[in-house]
Amino acid sequence: MASVKKLNSLDFAGKRVVLRADLNVPLKDGRVTDDGRIKASLPTINYLIDAGASILVIAHLGRPKGERKSELSLRPVASRLGELLGRDVNFAETIVDATEATAKAKPGEITCLENIRFEAAETSKVEEERFELARKLAHLGEIYIGDGFGAVHRKHASVFELASLMPHAAGFLVAKESEILERLTNDPLRPFGVVLGGAKVSDKIAVITNLLERVEMIAIGGGMVFTFLAAKGYKIGKSLFEAEQLATVHAILSRAEEKGVEILLPTDIKVTTEFKDVSARIVSVDQIGQEEMGLDIGPESAKRFADSIKRCRTIFWNGPMGVVEFSNFQEGTRVVADALRAVDGLAVVGGGDSAAAIRALGFADSDFGYVSTGGGASLEYLEGKELPGLVALS
Ligand code: AMP
Repeated sequence: MASVKKLNSLDFAGKRVVLRADLNVPLKDGRVTDDGRIKASLPTINYLIDAGASILVIAHLGRPKGERKSELSLRPVASRLGELLGRDVNFAETIVDATEATAKAKPGEITCLENIRFEAAETSKVEEERFELARKLAHLGEIYIGDGFGAVHRKHASVFELASLMPHAAGFLVAKESEILERLTNDPLRPFGVVLGGAKVSDKIAVITNLLERVEMIAIGGGMVFTFLAAKGYKIGKSLFEAEQLATVHAILSRAEEKGVEILLPTDIKVTTEFKDVSARIVSVDQIGQEEMGLDIGPESAKRFADSIKRCRTIFWNGPMGVVEFSNFQEGTRVVADALRAVDGLAVVGGGDSAAAIRALGFADSDFGYVSTGGGASLEYLEGKELPGLVALS
């Protein structure tokens, strides 16, 4: 992919900037529970302020599907942004409010627009509807900065069409994320290993298929591993299972064998009989009972995964090894995260949810080579797809 246009190629003095950021953070009872993505947006915002711009921040939260949903308002996110910046952040409920606020904005002034996905046109499949919204948004400033990495894989009005209507550049976050992904795809240090977990195989099929051609090792855990274990003939009880993916999983396993790519699967599993945070039984992979479900990889597997990870010089990890929301099923993820810290090379944690999960386990971003803010975006990049939000900024 062609490289993105850099922020420092533009003059911002006295300019009104429209900044597409990714502020899609987890909230609980109206409070931000993980502000990683807000913090990741600060370098660009501070740079723009220092360069004499006023800023209108456009961002989304969750999937309101074109409806105004109070629980998905960006208001608490805007106030957290203000706290982190140490300055006031105005809030505009509507595009009309934002038009008034930005027309008279002074250098250094920041306004955050309400969740852009409250506008149905933002995510519309109809190009003309997206363009119409983008034209309205384009009146809100003179320069567009794309820094919402978590949304660059979406052909959405504020991500794609808007960039094409205004002079534009990538913010520091998008520039850094693209550079890291390029390092993973162009001539990575070897061995190159990938660790995948999370709930569904179907979400990861494309990335596994693409990476099979480029890596030496793929370690698989999480709920998705049970479809692999079933394909190998193991009984998996009531564990997560995607029957319609069995044929693809068989194809992946035989392609891996052909290519000499090691597919690392767990040899022991933590099982329970209910989807609850209860103490679990550790069983060998061939001993899962009919009434049992696997909710984490076992300690022996975690150690094998960790040993393999530490032998790699490049690692990309997406998705927890077990149900990390339950304290009894966090150990696999913790051991894998710990191994990533010890990698002599580049270890990338890919994805806002994976990053939030390991922060909740007490790890810091600085423990890893790089923590990406965009799970979907980084997976699609590694699938070999062109990302609209990067194309628009190239
Ligand atoms: P993803 O969004 O695909 O990365 O999936 C993350 C989710 O996968 C987390 O909420 C985990 O609770 C869930 N998960 C991980 N391992 C399992 C498992 N063995 N069974 C059910 N869910 C799992």
